[in-house]
Amino acid sequence: MSNEPRFKRVLLKLSGEALMGDGSYGIDPVTANRVSQEIKRAREIGTEVCVVVGGGNIFRGIKGAAEGLDRSTADHMGMLATVMNALALQNALEKVGVDTRVLSAIPMASVSEPYIRRRAIRHLEKGRVVIFAAGTGNPFFTTDTAAALRAAEMNCNALLKGTQVDGVYNADPKKDPSAVRYEHLSYMDVLRQDLKVMDASAISLSRENNIPIVVFSIQTQDELVKVLQGEGTCTIVGE
Ligand code: UDP
Repeated sequence: MSNEPRFKRVLLKLSGEALMGDGSYGIDPVTANRVSQEIKRAREIGTEVCVVVGGGNIFRGIKGAAEGLDRSTADHMGMLATVMNALALQNALEKVGVDTRVLSAIPMASVSEPYIRRRAIRHLEKGRVVIFAAGTGNPFFTTDTAAALRAAEMNCNALLKGTQVDGVYNADPKKDPSAVRYEHLSYMDVLRQDLKVMDASAISLSRENNIPIVVFSIQTQDELVKVLQGEGTCTIVGE
């Protein structure tokens, strides 16, 4: 197997939970450091990496709405949570020597750069990791959809969804030991069977732009690089 990465440019989607570690809330610095090391290795093998981080470890709009906030207000709070995660991840990446820029869909001049597509592409070409914060900038969306959108805008060769499990299964592998991991699924399989890969708008957007979605475990050491080299354990969602 060649060590050349099979994708030149990828968008890595990390849910807020990926930064939480064993805790039940917030950002765990040890976990942020470990994820940063994974991203660093991906850069070292020559893959350009941009990242969309979620905010579910801090605040989720739909939960806020259920507790009485206006949905739009709650979603704005959720987007602000993603900015906190983006800053924490930037800090962790820079500590391990990776040049990183945060670009926010909600302009926040003293905290991050605004999202400007051409500027983001330029950062990637210069070898920097780009973190997209504040989702799409619009309420009623998720960071999964933001990931599919930015992957298309950045002309990424793949959308890598880093999760707690090593792919998509026909049942919950934590509850059912006979659960089987899919090697490959079509976008339509995911939509028709309502498989919990990413939300439907993210799947549709990826399908329209023919961007494969690679679901793998961000918890497993070196798995990101292995997946990039075609050796890791994952499920690929494509045509
Ligand atoms: N959000 C939003 N618009 C977007 C992306 C995110 O309103 O384009 C809000 C929404 O409230 C969501 C929260 O930000 O619940 C955090 O994002 P998400 O739930 O996708 O995070 P994850 O589950 O990946 O941690």
